[in-house]
Amino acid sequence: MAKTPSSRSGAPKLDPRGRKVKILATVGPASRSPEMLARLFKAGVDAFRVNMSHGEHADHADTIKAIRDLEKEYMRPIAILADLQGPKLRVGKFKDGEAVIRHSGHFTLDRDPTPGDETRVQLPHPELFGLLEKGQRLLINDGKIRLKVISADENAIKCSAEVGGVISDRKGVNVPDAEIPIPALTEKDRKDLAFAVQQGVDWIGLSFVQRPEDLAEARKLMGGRGSLCAKIEKPMAVRRLDEIIEMSDGIMVARGDLGVELEPQEVPPLQKRIVNATRLKGKPVIVATQMLESMIESPAPTRAEVSDVANAVYDGADCVMLSAETAAGDWPEEAVTIMHRIARQVEDDESYLDRVRFLDTPPDATTADALAHACMTVADTVSISAITVFTGSGSTARRVARERPSVPMLVLTPSMKTARRLGLLWGAHAVATKDIGSFEEMIAKGKRMALRHGFGQAGSKLIALAGVPFGTPGSTNLMHVVNVSGDELEKHGG
Ligand code: PGA
Ligand code: MN
Repeated sequence: MAKTPSSRSGAPKLDPRGRKVKILATVGPASRSPEMLARLFKAGVDAFRVNMSHGEHADHADTIKAIRDLEKEYMRPIAILADLQGPKLRVGKFKDGEAVIRHSGHFTLDRDPTPGDETRVQLPHPELFGLLEKGQRLLINDGKIRLKVISADENAIKCSAEVGGVISDRKGVNVPDAEIPIPALTEKDRKDLAFAVQQGVDWIGLSFVQRPEDLAEARKLMGGRGSLCAKIEKPMAVRRLDEIIEMSDGIMVARGDLGVELEPQEVPPLQKRIVNATRLKGKPVIVATQMLESMIESPAPTRAEVSDVANAVYDGADCVMLSAETAAGDWPEEAVTIMHRIARQVEDDESYLDRVRFLDTPPDATTADALAHACMTVADTVSISAITVFTGSGSTARRVARERPSVPMLVLTPSMKTARRLGLLWGAHAVATKDIGSFEEMIAKGKRMALRHGFGQAGSKLIALAGVPFGTPGSTNLMHVVNVSGDELEKHGG
């Protein structure tokens, strides 16, 4: 690999993203070749989602290895989120692969594995029988078919079809009106989770979370390996949002299922509420699903989609996600490029910071928060090129990000795990680097790294934020404004 002037390591040069919001892209058949993963990464992907609902472990292992290779090649940490399918309910199979449910006709879900027809099909989830009640809704195929329960017992759920349509093998079923007494982790999820942590993924995504206890269970199985992201896609989870945020390391506004379980028009206000509540706690929040949906087939997005991405950035989200656009679409690289451009445009808007700071984020009564707050004020007052954050766990970076400072954070951490996990956090450009031992070393390293990674030049000022003694968790107690002189320019490779 040819050396470039800015890098002594020999890694190919890749500029900082020039934006604070992060891009999470789902990997699938359209993107899992090492070549396409590299193209998506270069186009702006900060984190990849491996969707455990589809594909085999062997394929996922190949994907994870290709991402780690990319990370080595470009010397830049990349977050990997393994998204567990969760208790996604599905109907059984049909005689002809599909059937038509008539509008206002009747349709029954039962326990009989015999292939279904236009009058009935198996529902292979015993938990639902005897639980559902008259008047409750069953939504099939992303809510396209809407059934209402007429009567239900231990063997059959008889429904009337408020909206009929074509139903086919293994279509998904949403039951928004009931709390289903099944754990958030199915047998398959447990196997997938064990595989994912063994593969060293950075984040686990938990689908259809209903209660805080669901997270406790996942956390136990993870055994401290990786961070946990709760997907908010059930009305139950919305009701207990604060407790769920408390139990998670990050949150996803999973608008796909959320818009089926609730009415679609309930999602935009909820998006804002979930983004605010999560950010207040200093945890990253992802806005997901259908962001550039039409780009599955078209090289250009609709105006409405462009607005949707832009508005998620204005809402103050940490991260925006691509689903089928990169997993199965015809234009994966274009989708990332467009998302990147939209985010840059919004962040360049002079009203952007005022808009994201519309949320009041009063600091907790801790030294770390007082200094995080001070960083924001200093960066608003004098011209600063970056906040250099020295952190072991990433906690200091999260407290700074919560305030949404005007300048990026260059996060220096001795932990590769921390550096990778920060892939979902707003404004954090993480570098895994050797630990520092002294104040002088911190200042020198801060300047050197800022120059090397494109966060400053001769004459610029940096903020250094750290805790002394170095390497003590929770000790953030030091903020220093540093002038970058010409001298470091000669030695910044070191
Ligand atoms: P999914 O989750 O893509 O795994 O369904 C996201 C969503 O429901 O929005
Ligand atoms: Mn979902």
